[in-house]
Amino acid sequence: MLGLMQDWPLLCHKVIDHAATYHGQREVVSRSVEGPIHRTNYAEVRLRALKLSQRLARDGIGIGDRVATMAWNTWRHLESWYGILGVGAVYHTLNPRLFHDQIAWIMNDAEDRMLFVDLTFVKLVELIAPKVPSLERIVILTDDAHMPETSLVNAVSYESYIAEADGDFAWAEFDERTAAGMCYTSGTTGDPKGVVYSHRSNVLHAMTALQPDMLSLASRDRLMPVVPLFHANGWSTAFSGPMSGCAMVMPGAGMDGESIYQMLTQEKVTITAAVPTVWLMLLQRMEKEGGALPDLSRVVIGGSACPRAITKAFQDDYGVDVVHAWGMTEMSPLGTLCSIKPEYAHLEGDEKLDLQTKQGHPPFTVEMKITDDENVSLPWDGSTFGRLKVRGPAVSSSYYKGRGAEQFDTEGWFDTGDVAHVDQFGYMQITDRAKDVIKSGGEWISSIEIENLAVGHPDVAEAAVIGVTHPKWDERPLLVIVVKEDRSPSKEDLIGFLDGKIAKWWMPDDVIFVDDIPHTATGKIQKTALRDQLKDYSFPGA
Ligand code: ADP
Repeated sequence: MLGLMQDWPLLCHKVIDHAATYHGQREVVSRSVEGPIHRTNYAEVRLRALKLSQRLARDGIGIGDRVATMAWNTWRHLESWYGILGVGAVYHTLNPRLFHDQIAWIMNDAEDRMLFVDLTFVKLVELIAPKVPSLERIVILTDDAHMPETSLVNAVSYESYIAEADGDFAWAEFDERTAAGMCYTSGTTGDPKGVVYSHRSNVLHAMTALQPDMLSLASRDRLMPVVPLFHANGWSTAFSGPMSGCAMVMPGAGMDGESIYQMLTQEKVTITAAVPTVWLMLLQRMEKEGGALPDLSRVVIGGSACPRAITKAFQDDYGVDVVHAWGMTEMSPLGTLCSIKPEYAHLEGDEKLDLQTKQGHPPFTVEMKITDDENVSLPWDGSTFGRLKVRGPAVSSSYYKGRGAEQFDTEGWFDTGDVAHVDQFGYMQITDRAKDVIKSGGEWISSIEIENLAVGHPDVAEAAVIGVTHPKWDERPLLVIVVKEDRSPSKEDLIGFLDGKIAKWWMPDDVIFVDDIPHTATGKIQKTALRDQLKDYSFPGA
């Protein structure tokens, strides 16, 4: 016997229909790439997305066609996503921080037919476009008055492009499993791999993200996704925001501490999300110039481990709750969030901060386990670490064109490449990437844990720990430090600071000071590049 409920397909454009119908006047505020603050609302965003769909359909763009975007978070980028989705085409976000040859490779792999690009990246696209034969048209996300001089052929302004449509158009209807979006992983090992979201996975994932133990978004919120839409499906904000009916504040190209501070305060943002490096910039700006965050109630921090010092500063100095999150492009991306369950509600001070260094527990729709190398499940005791594996309706079942097949098993588990332990209440803590873990005398040392402690030192701006070959122990940890302006801590200061906080045999064998630590295109410490830079280093006396 089957249920007698309607088969209402979970299509992404139904999200913007909902926002426009029930929260139509809610603001979408952006720092435009041209400069001024721009204000619109969900009703307008939907109407303009419809015009875009209609215009795309006239260009022959339809189900399954890939349409790339290389853009900051603004209302036009948001409209582009829904306009592309509305004809059944696939939004393909490009990370402008990648090398242009890598971007061309990705665009060719995806066979992008069109590209929507911000003014900031037109020069970059001039280098890329000639290498991508599938590209038919380039839409520059501006109006005619701001169109730049460009060598790009077939480039039009977004405003003139959609002005050729009246919006009298019906969204396409299709199976909810149809591809909706594409995002390539950063490819720190080998070529980048394409992750393909479906309409169904995006809608289910946004519903998951709204849960109170996740982002807990409500129509009363004002959400500022600082995390760019091109990073890991924009952490679902383009769907979870409109689905909740909250106001959206889009930071545009203003990604520095001062610009973010202005948007947070002037636009009375209540919840925001980004990687730790962004928050380090904001906190450094506030440490220097002062300021307060009276409207901000919570900040979601993920993408790499959130150092304890950041959590402490937000909570103790500015009264903002930190929600540590873990996820991956392959997971749409949210996997766990560190909200406080009743079992831990009694924790205060340092004990609470200890808990918050964990990445947290999964919501409904994410299954998780840890295993050894033979795929045997390991106990959830808060200390035994192993390979972290996940499955769920918004987790990849394979990569585009079948790449990386070794990461998927026959029972549907996806090997995240992360190493983690889980405690008795289901709180997961990442101890490392499988390839970054330091193997000392047959035991594993977590580089992340040492880094997190080291950035708590008042003179340290950034810290990284890598394993360096050691004649006796195989590998030993090396602590690499960038100091804050005008500070000069000694090696002994730093080792003394870690003393008593980690096991003796985890203590770095040496500390070196550098001007800069290399970052990936999504703002994470790039361990492969750092290891390369230091390949001639050896421990004193080793
Ligand atoms: P990219 O590497 O392109 O930024 P992802 O965002 O998909 O792509 O990277 C996912 C990886 O980032 C995870 O597998 C994990 O290693 C790391 N990561 C994400 N969030 C956290 C976190 N809160 N703590 C530690 N590592 C994290």
